[in-house]
Amino acid sequence: MKILVLNCGSSSIKFQLIETDEQKRRQGNESRLAKGSVQKIGSAEAQIDFQAQGQKKISHTQPIYEHTTGIENILQRLVEPEKGVIKDVEEIEAVGHRVVHGGEYFSRSTIINREVEKGIRDCIELAPLHNPPNLWGYQATREVLPSVPQVAVFDTAFHQTMTPSAYIYGLPYCLYERYKIRRYGFHGTSHRYVLLRLAKILARPVKELDVITCHLGNGCSIASIKGGQSVDTSMGFTPLEGLVMGTRCGDIDPALVPFILEREDLRLEEVNNMLNKHSGLIGISGLSNDMRTLEDASKEGDQKAALAIDIFAYRVQKYIGAYLAGMNGADAIVFTAGIGENSPMVRERVCKNMDALGVEFDSRENARLQGKEGCISRESSPVKVFVIPTDEELLIARDTYQCVTEKSG
Ligand code: AMP
Repeated sequence: MKILVLNCGSSSIKFQLIETDEQKRRQGNESRLAKGSVQKIGSAEAQIDFQAQGQKKISHTQPIYEHTTGIENILQRLVEPEKGVIKDVEEIEAVGHRVVHGGEYFSRSTIINREVEKGIRDCIELAPLHNPPNLWGYQATREVLPSVPQVAVFDTAFHQTMTPSAYIYGLPYCLYERYKIRRYGFHGTSHRYVLLRLAKILARPVKELDVITCHLGNGCSIASIKGGQSVDTSMGFTPLEGLVMGTRCGDIDPALVPFILEREDLRLEEVNNMLNKHSGLIGISGLSNDMRTLEDASKEGDQKAALAIDIFAYRVQKYIGAYLAGMNGADAIVFTAGIGENSPMVRERVCKNMDALGVEFDSRENARLQGKEGCISRESSPVKVFVIPTDEELLIARDTYQCVTEKSG
């Protein structure tokens, strides 16, 4: 089955065409026929990138003012003679969408129908920047491919197994009742993907695994997974909570908001902007949100870059400690996403002094491992440490396949 995976933002669409079936899914050898993106939707110079499997990336610009045209364009590229990868758009049997917020409505991926569409719309209040473009993507696809089933895969769904002790804030309970103010968590598809992959690597049932998964990219979150279910995660009501990230502050004292507002004579939205876009690694270092730049600068003696890395790694360490306490140990810690997969230095900072907690870190193996899967703890380590590259699109394709075949089966 050929599945189009879409990740629609306010001015962009990222896509992959993935072919899967029962056997490919079991063996984990699905084919990625094409991938690419449409950027700067809403302008006369939208950029389309398209890369067929095993081919060079092709890019061009053209006016694209809304998502429907963007998706039409992707379909045109896919069927283009010679450069395309399918003969007819009818070969696409299902479409899977990344949807950021499923609130308390959705604890698993689901085929989108009217009721589901309403549920996604009802969550707009919780994710005003993300759920609207996710819905536009669905609606645009419905116009262009009216008879193809579409599936929503939610960033929040995996964390719906958290218990109230992990998701209720220390605020008046009526705020939860009135506005559903609680912790939701994000990056669920990534945490679940690496968990499933770990179960394969260890040849153990997912249900038996206690794991701490660290998604360290530009956005960062960490999840505590007990018996294969998320029991806690660092992001909260929004993705601002938790770890120090590329541009987000992560956990801070909430009393700082009114304090900064008054002292810096800022408006509320300016403070919000500061916490989301000008804090974290870039805010501390004053240099960059890119960990590579900070690593290079710190090697050359830049004190603030070094401090940003120290703060980043220490926050990850604190969360791991908390989750190890909460679960009374773990089978494994997994690192994934841009920094988690590619920065031996950050992984070393996080794990090297955790032997009292059962982590026997293998520095040599860690230094060798960049951008690929592997184990970076010693054989004898009670808590194993793994690097597993994430693949959210693949999990979206697998979930889409499962939802569509369950329905027709
Ligand atoms: P992501 O959001 O998953 O694409 O991750 C982006 C982050 O990964 C950025 O902060 C990059 O600096 C970081 N990253 C990517 N490659 C490397 C690398 N080789 N070393 C350190 N950080 C990296």
